[in-house]
Amino acid sequence: MDEYSSQRPYRGRFAPSPSGPLHFGSLYTALASYLDARSNQGTWLVRIEDIDPPREQPGATKAILKTLEKYGLHWQEPVLYQSQRSAQYDEAIHRLKLQTELFYCTCSRKQLASHSPVYPGFCRAVATPPPQSYAIRFKVSDRVIAFDDRLQGKTQQNLATEVGDFLIQRKDNLYAYQLAVVVDDALQDISHVLRGSDLLDNTPRQIALQNSLGYAQPDYLHLPLMTNQRGQKLSKQTFADSIENLDPPRVLAQLLSCLGQNPPQDIEQSSVEEILNWAVTHWNCDRIPTQAMQAPNSLPLCS
Ligand code: GLU
Ligand code: ZN
Repeated sequence: MDEYSSQRPYRGRFAPSPSGPLHFGSLYTALASYLDARSNQGTWLVRIEDIDPPREQPGATKAILKTLEKYGLHWQEPVLYQSQRSAQYDEAIHRLKLQTELFYCTCSRKQLASHSPVYPGFCRAVATPPPQSYAIRFKVSDRVIAFDDRLQGKTQQNLATEVGDFLIQRKDNLYAYQLAVVVDDALQDISHVLRGSDLLDNTPRQIALQNSLGYAQPDYLHLPLMTNQRGQKLSKQTFADSIENLDPPRVLAQLLSCLGQNPPQDIEQSSVEEILNWAVTHWNCDRIPTQAMQAPNSLPLCS
């Protein structure tokens, strides 16, 4: 536990990108973060990470919120939309600029292709905006950033050797996920982040930004990934059925089993509210499996 967690009120969030409706894997994350917040008498928020319009699917935000409500996962403050937060992101960029932690990058994708994945530092010395279009990168330092994940344990990374100077704002002016997530977690006073372990190796970048911006560091818990029968991560690209037409109590029962919570066999006969009450009361995050796991073969359709 870091020094903040014992003193700050618990505030958690679920932060989906509206690139498609929720699937079993994303609902798994939403449920875990909801249960962890509620069982710690915390506040649970939903933030829509709509900062990448080209990847957005029309109607996805509405569908996501509707699904959360159907599963009884009610958020306690108004939904925050990242598309409305450019003033906050610009302010953070401005501060990082003053601290000379940013530089202007005009590298093309082609120039960088043979250097992937670590940015080779070509533009590091460019401190004033060039005439052509540019991206903005954060200058990383050559040191190990370590944190204690509540589930995955000690995790560490040297950004200089493993990631390189990373993007804060793209050439098309879109803000990078790393910047937006750090600013919003801080300004929303998020104390605990539960999310998929596909984001585990993004966390050191976020901690570096938190340090530079003087933000408190949340506690992190990265959940195991949910895969399909072929071992591929559930996502919109692989087969990941939308859960819209499924029977919520039975899906919740399956999700609780996947979270290692051992719900009683007949819990699926209860209402959504009753199941969530049981789950909040019995929540034990030490029982969450750490390894990737397969989603159930068949999901229960509404009868
Ligand atoms: N918006 C991100 C996603 O859907 C999650 C961000 C986060 O939880 O930090 O993958
Ligand atoms: Zn460059």
